[in-house]
Amino acid sequence: MYNIIVTDSRIQTNSSESRGAGQSVSDERGRFEDLLRVEYREGLYLPDIDLWLDADGPREHSVISHGHSDHIAQHRSIVATPETARIFRHRCGEARVETLQYGERRDYGHYALTFYPAGHCLGSAQVLVEAQGERLVYTGDIKLRPNVAAEDAVIVPCDTLVMESTFGDPLYKFPPDVVTFERLYVAVDRALSDDRVPVVLAYALGKGQEALEILLRGGYRVTLHGSVWNISEIYRELGVEFSGPYEKYNREHVRGRVLIAPPGCRKQPMITNIERRYIIMLTGWAMHKSAPYMYRNVDLILPLSDHADFDELVHLARASGAERVITMHGPAKFAAHLRERGLNAEHLAHHPSNKESETKKRSTKKASTTVERSLFN
Ligand SMILES: [Zn+2]
Repeated sequence: MYNIIVTDSRIQTNSSESRGAGQSVSDERGRFEDLLRVEYREGLYLPDIDLWLDADGPREHSVISHGHSDHIAQHRSIVATPETARIFRHRCGEARVETLQYGERRDYGHYALTFYPAGHCLGSAQVLVEAQGERLVYTGDIKLRPNVAAEDAVIVPCDTLVMESTFGDPLYKFPPDVVTFERLYVAVDRALSDDRVPVVLAYALGKGQEALEILLRGGYRVTLHGSVWNISEIYRELGVEFSGPYEKYNREHVRGRVLIAPPGCRKQPMITNIERRYIIMLTGWAMHKSAPYMYRNVDLILPLSDHADFDELVHLARASGAERVITMHGPAKFAAHLRERGLNAEHLAHHPSNKESETKKRSTKKASTTVERSLFN
């Protein structure tokens, strides 16, 4: 169903027995002593090789998985795909940039890096780190279903999988994207025939271009908020061919068009001044029963996400063949779901070595829930 990278170079560093359900991760800790230490210190950090991945704050050097604001900072030097490097420059200005194409392996002496597509937004990468005879994959944000505006994700065999788990709850099982596209088309048609302006809320990088491509394929005239326009132009500069022309927002020319704008704009005059509007939010959080309260002033919430849903996450963990799975950016109980399925999984926040930094992080960012954070991507 999904592409899997086949490799002969996988190095087994541990027994491949799966742990039975019900055993705690700490019982297994001894087995993992010879594996790379993985810590969360305001970003993912591998202390054994002094490597930062998506560091939260400015660092001398960090690998960047993709260009969303919660994965980048004003680093002095970065390693990224050419696409992410371009978006990084647009968002953060100049930095020393080293680019790696997908599948290109680069040796740094005590470790080597290779990027693979993550299907989350253009240029988004999973990072394979090979060090001390171990293959560690950090997924960054990942979507396994095909993304109409990004490269198709692959599953990379590894010993240790550090995976995002944003939607790591069985509640989040998304309907097929084509079903959601159809619901979007029906809603847009109804709004247009009622002489209303359909406003589709999707953040500027990734979801905005997915929404744009879906709407262009549906034959609609589309106008873009400046931030979505800027990133869409970068996509075109990087070789993406959208299925039709699109316009930059002009308040004199909104009727008869679909407007795509970031979710944070929905209370701003640009949208509130549109007298007859119909607001559609595209988000995986649509599956949550409190979604209507999370997204007030929205007429329709559709479950289109650029993240993997629960079943995809479980599939990813299994198909990677990883002997150690470390979850992050999602509910801690997702690791328990994986353990119930016989995988050696632990949630990074529960790791003893980073408990302190996690507590500190939670207290400083208490107000920013996962949902709100996703609004600013
Ligand atoms: Zn992201």
